[in-house]
Amino acid sequence: MKVLVPVKRVVDYNVKVRVKSDGSGVDIANVKMSMNPFDEIAVEEAMRLKEGGKVTEVVAVSCGVAQCQETLRTAMAIGADRGILVETTEELQPLAVAKLLKALADKEQPQLIILGKQAIDDDSNQTGQMLAALLGWGQATFASKVVIEDGKATVTREVDGGLETIALPLPAIVTTDLRLNEPRYVTLPNIMKAKKKPLENVKPADLGVDVTPRLKTLKVSEPPKRSAGIMVKDIAELVSKLRNEAKVI
Ligand code: AMP
Repeated sequence: MKVLVPVKRVVDYNVKVRVKSDGSGVDIANVKMSMNPFDEIAVEEAMRLKEGGKVTEVVAVSCGVAQCQETLRTAMAIGADRGILVETTEELQPLAVAKLLKALADKEQPQLIILGKQAIDDDSNQTGQMLAALLGWGQATFASKVVIEDGKATVTREVDGGLETIALPLPAIVTTDLRLNEPRYVTLPNIMKAKKKPLENVKPADLGVDVTPRLKTLKVSEPPKRSAGIMVKDIAELVSKLRNEAKVI
């Protein structure tokens, strides 16, 4: 069984991004880029399924600029068998990525696609859902446990009131939540090994996909500045301030 794992190159989660002065977006020139953390969890889960004998091949896919190769090499250092870069300098929105992944799924015929629940740069939380709709497959989003058995996936999902367990036939889409697993550290020998793994390069046109953006960003602005906190002497003063100044109780 083959698993496809889409991995996105995003601004590293430790970087404090700045909004450009013209409000057209955030400044990503010269900032550290890394694999989207939820996608690391997705690669880790695919590896655990492979190590558990449920999966025979793990293919990582990244869509975007040439530097996404680094993200694919990281996925291969975690253990993915090969990588596919869909190379474009166009801005890619979730619908375009979902269409690219649909075209690749048609070609590669995986039984399972594990995506991150959301990319930490655009916070869209859309690609997995759109891909499931385009493919006509079932989807289990926000997974905190995945079991593959007898041609079906049993997935525990993190929902508002607690945990929900659902079963879905394969092929299927799963999106990862934070508690699914803890990704392993990438070791130097595995980084070296990853350099020799196959990395295919295709263009959106090769897949017959039009990636033209459908959404236009009108404005990006900084969140309002938070005022500094104050120290209170005792609970009575705290209650008085909450009641008379903040007027929240
Ligand atoms: P989003 O819908 O943008 O929040 O992204 C959700 C998930 O879709 C990510 O965690 C990735 O698994 C996948 N994804 C989104 N954009 C890309 C991309 N450009 N290349 C590869 N995978 C992507």
